[in-house]
Amino acid sequence: MTNTNLKLSSSGAFFGGCTDVGRVREHNEDSMLLAAPLFAVADGMGGHEAGEVASEIAIQTLAEMTPEHLDAIGLEQAVVAANLNVMRAPAQGVGRDGMGTTLTAAMVENERLLVAQVGDSRAYLLHGGHMQQITRDHSLMADMIESGQITEEEARFHPNRSVITRAIGSDAYMRPDIYELNVVAGDRLLLCSDGLNTMLEDREIRYILSSVSNPQKCCEELVEAALRAGGHDNVTVVVVDVQGFTQVKRKKQQRKSRMSVVFVALLVVLILAASAFGAYAYVNNSAYLIAENGKVSVYRGIQDSFLGISLSSLDRTTDVEVDKLPAGVAQRITKGMAVDGIEAANSLIEEYELTIAEESQKAKDSTIEAVPHTDNQDASQENGGA
Ligand code: MG
Repeated sequence: MTNTNLKLSSSGAFFGGCTDVGRVREHNEDSMLLAAPLFAVADGMGGHEAGEVASEIAIQTLAEMTPEHLDAIGLEQAVVAANLNVMRAPAQGVGRDGMGTTLTAAMVENERLLVAQVGDSRAYLLHGGHMQQITRDHSLMADMIESGQITEEEARFHPNRSVITRAIGSDAYMRPDIYELNVVAGDRLLLCSDGLNTMLEDREIRYILSSVSNPQKCCEELVEAALRAGGHDNVTVVVVDVQGFTQVKRKKQQRKSRMSVVFVALLVVLILAASAFGAYAYVNNSAYLIAENGKVSVYRGIQDSFLGISLSSLDRTTDVEVDKLPAGVAQRITKGMAVDGIEAANSLIEEYELTIAEESQKAKDSTIEAVPHTDNQDASQENGGA
């Protein structure tokens, strides 16, 4: 089973699509389009290398020509362009004369639904548990049922059941039927080729459509059911859940709040990173002096710890003896004295070394000044000897 044969965009889980060749045919001549807000199903005819070409040209033209937003005239013009492109293709060596396709295209935007219809592919709407066929088939059977010649049940087995009365690719003046209606959030749109509705009764389609909540899974189950019922034709299914204003608005708000959460988280990370960097820079540029084994040591960092981790490391030990420093300074260094960085610490150490050297020099000088006292002792020795 092929999930999509032309998927131009997929903007969320509110739609799905599935197509299958079936159990009898050799080629899949159906095409589909999932390009929110535009969706379509086309059922090509004309045989191999014609039917699939016609349905692909129609879908491709529709994808290129349909306006971005719901627009009845724009959609109709796109279908008209698709018709002309399919008609011109054989002359350009693409496909074959007589090829054609059905085309059921829908645009779903907020709570509006627009459908363009050519042929006997169908659009159904599930609303409040009830399923209604939106489109009218352009087929001989539809005409005969409407005129009361046959019943719907008889039409299912009628030998002319596949005769269609309007198609893309046969009449240059062809115009699609256009349906425009209000829908509400929770409604579900189904587009399908006749390979679904000729194999399954409406009540079977409605049951699957209303009981499988995931749109993609729902498409797959519908196709599986058509195959189990015989799969006499190619079968293509597109399911779209109507979002509605509230849901679209809510989704936008959710997107916004998700973005806000990401932004705040990013901001917190940035603030934490900046704080960590600032703290690191502060610690790294700080220093302190402290007495260790009677001498002054220089530490990089601060005399503290965070979560049991020391915030400092030994830079160097010095020969500056704490006892030889002025009493006030010695007292502060014994407890640990913070300074403005390593350079300031080194300047202080040099200053202390100088001070101690000067004090030492003074002490030596005072020893020299005490020499006359020694002379007197010599004199008294001389006197004693006389
Ligand atoms: Mg078919």
